[in-house]
Amino acid sequence: MYLTAPEDLGSILGDQPAYRTDQVRNWLYRTPVLSIADMTNLPAELRRRLADRHWPFHLEIEQTADAHTTRKWLFRTPDGAAIETVLMGYPKRTTVCISSQVGCAMGCTFCATGQYGFDRHLEAGEIVAQVAYANAALRSSPIAGSPDHVTNVVFMGMGEPLANYDRVRESLRRLIETMGISARSITVSTVGVAPGIRRLAAEPWPVNLAISLHAADDASRSEIVPLNRRYPIDDLVTAAREFFAAKGRRVSIEWTLIAGKNDSEGDAAALAGIAERMRAHVNVIPLNPTPLGEDRPPDRSRVTRFVRTLRDAGITATERDTRGRDIDAACGQLRLRSARRTELPERVVSPR
Ligand code: SAH
Ligand code: SF4
Repeated sequence: MYLTAPEDLGSILGDQPAYRTDQVRNWLYRTPVLSIADMTNLPAELRRRLADRHWPFHLEIEQTADAHTTRKWLFRTPDGAAIETVLMGYPKRTTVCISSQVGCAMGCTFCATGQYGFDRHLEAGEIVAQVAYANAALRSSPIAGSPDHVTNVVFMGMGEPLANYDRVRESLRRLIETMGISARSITVSTVGVAPGIRRLAAEPWPVNLAISLHAADDASRSEIVPLNRRYPIDDLVTAAREFFAAKGRRVSIEWTLIAGKNDSEGDAAALAGIAERMRAHVNVIPLNPTPLGEDRPPDRSRVTRFVRTLRDAGITATERDTRGRDIDAACGQLRLRSARRTELPERVVSPR
């Protein structure tokens, strides 16, 4: 039912009284449940009739890591598309990392999703259902020591959200207006679709914007991020400044550190200049090596030095934790593995 807009639910419920639509909407968006059987205030006949329409996908693989504080899911849609979602529990927040496309057409060289290519866009309902599923899973088994519901959403799974703008926009509308998630707790991450950044700046919601930069000059950025040839760094700086001016929200720059490619002190100094122009803070992420790529992360001391150089230049910089490394979290890696049908050590939930 997540494929139907909340206000159109009445049309699939048939000749039911209006309050039923409200009940179903609550079960879907306010207090999601894993199984339709748990929608206890609906008549059994209605539950049976809706059972097949509840989720737009089924859970194929579940993995846990980091002492059970990270859960990674691979969902499969009826048309065979794979969707990756990662849930991460922290002391004061529970963050879900969601996908916006199946695969990605942007072709960033270090990214497993980019190496795989593009299958299709996700529908708004398929995007929202990932968050609802996380909420339903947390209700039935919370992560010890973390909030028992999703507090933060990041569009950092598979796909380029701003290349699927209208569906992502509709998913934001449902997450914020129907599910009640604060726009300030949602982060849209983009590789730099400048017109999409401008459109997002004009939307009514104060969501956070992350720009995946990875290189500080156009020649080297175009090599690892092909989209840079279309929207070079100066365009991104302008768009980021417009976003900041429109929303009053600080932009963040994501920088995946790759040994020998973007990890020198010179790179850090050039990045500091761009961060200052964008009024952005910087998240540094050591590369998670991919099965098809040759790139490697720098050793620890270089990571530390890179972050220190940024801070010395007056930039707020943090090293992002690399949750779920041992379960190939995020970045299209689980799907890559399942597609190649190598041994899967994880729990296969419902093989089909
Ligand atoms: N397409 C969007 C959002 C999905 S990628 C974007 O590129 O921003 C989410 C983040 O994961 C990006 O910052 C991306 O650079 C990073 N990423 C991709 N592959 C990675 C890898 N192998 N190791 C570490 N970070 C990676
Ligand atoms: Fe696509 Fe983002 Fe991966 Fe680049 S880093 S290929 S934009 S998912």
